[in-house]
Amino acid sequence: MKAFSVKFRIAVWLTLLMGLLAVLLLVFMLSISKAVAAQASMAQLAQTVRSNLSQTGLDNGRLTLGDGFRFYQNGVSTLIYSRDQAFLAGQIPVSFTVEEDFQNGLTRMVNAGDERYLVLDLWLPIGWENGVWLRGLMEVSENRQFTTSLLRVALIVMPVFMALAALGSYWIARRAFLPLDSIMAAAASINKAQDLSRRIGLPPGHDEFSRLAGTFDQLFQRLEKSFESEKQFAADASHELRTPVSIIKGACEYAEKYDETQEDRRETIAMIHRQTDRMSQLISQLLSMTRLEQGTESACLAPVNLNGLLRSHCEELAYSPDRLILELHEDITAMADPTLLSRLVRNLVENGFKYSEPNGCVWVSVRQSGGEILLEVRDNGIGIPAELQEKIWQRFYRADPARGGEGGAGLGLPIVRQIAHAHGGYMTLESIPRVGSAFTLHLPAPGPSVQPDAKGARPNPAP
Ligand code: ADP
Repeated sequence: MKAFSVKFRIAVWLTLLMGLLAVLLLVFMLSISKAVAAQASMAQLAQTVRSNLSQTGLDNGRLTLGDGFRFYQNGVSTLIYSRDQAFLAGQIPVSFTVEEDFQNGLTRMVNAGDERYLVLDLWLPIGWENGVWLRGLMEVSENRQFTTSLLRVALIVMPVFMALAALGSYWIARRAFLPLDSIMAAAASINKAQDLSRRIGLPPGHDEFSRLAGTFDQLFQRLEKSFESEKQFAADASHELRTPVSIIKGACEYAEKYDETQEDRRETIAMIHRQTDRMSQLISQLLSMTRLEQGTESACLAPVNLNGLLRSHCEELAYSPDRLILELHEDITAMADPTLLSRLVRNLVENGFKYSEPNGCVWVSVRQSGGEILLEVRDNGIGIPAELQEKIWQRFYRADPARGGEGGAGLGLPIVRQIAHAHGGYMTLESIPRVGSAFTLHLPAPGPSVQPDAKGARPNPAP
């Protein structure tokens, strides 16, 4: 079936509806007018026959008719019959050819050939024994003139009205759908030109289309933002990877030409090692960030004893205990993924040392407060100026690349933030330049029934 536009379908539907309504109205008018005409005719018949009845009498066996008696008046023929139904006076209409029994006081319709008559009989008793019948006959003529003129008017007016309905409804539908056209045009041009900066830009309003256009504009804005940030991410990632690759390439070319001694070669190989380490760290950071973002590496939450986890993890980090200081008091259990939480703590602790003086310290503590578990990693390092405290959470942002050394790429804190979100928590930062920084993970405290498994480790998955 051919697909017609919605506007066209609305117009056709309304026009047909209008036509149907007009036909129904016409039929209704015709039947009402018929009923009214029938009522009027019956009233006329009854009134004429009764008036003639009052003028009729018998005087010594002779029929007497008053002056007001009319055998034919207002379309009503009045006939007089004897008690034995023998015709006495009047003029029977030529077309009334049927034998119709007398019924006193009952008006009825009688078919006589092609014609139809309204018949009313009235019995006039005279004395005990005698009397006469008065029969009124009225030919029922279809009000053809009225019907024809009504049909004629309808035939002229209806098409005009239907055409007006069709045009009007198409015009209204077209106007109502105009915003949809611009929405489609904008979406198509965005699709064609890959230009996410385009907006539909309908003036704000309360109708559905304005709201739809507003929602689309917001959607395009979000898409543009995330597209831009993906582009930026890809550019930053390739830039970060290109740097060690070009260092390695340069070192190889230099070694081919100039490295003569064993010592030179050892130095070159050590440098290549450092650069490949940097690349592999970057790649694993990029991978885990992408997995966390896409949900492929989602947090597998289980009750974890945080003291146990922090103790065993910080021992593995191989910093001396008088520089990496654990402030663990009460036993606190949280719903956490031990692997992800260890990565979060390691990133924060390593940053704490990286951005401190050589003899700087890092404190790790856990406490519970106001329905939250607070895991804090604090250092007495260089601190972060207030205006940079938002930016450091962005991917590849590094406030002080010289200090962070070659290993960092500005992905540590974004990963920390993603891990916090994966736990249903969030990060806060307090920092004062040249005094130190405190990064705090806020986790929702679990209910009282939650018990940690042994050593705070992840429970073994079922075989
Ligand atoms: P990276 O350490 O690889 O540079 P991060 O995402 O871990 O990347 O940190 C981003 C930036 O935030 C760092 O470059 C640094 O400037 C700043 N920063 C992070 N942690 C600290 C800290 N403890 N003290 C001072 N600055 C910090």
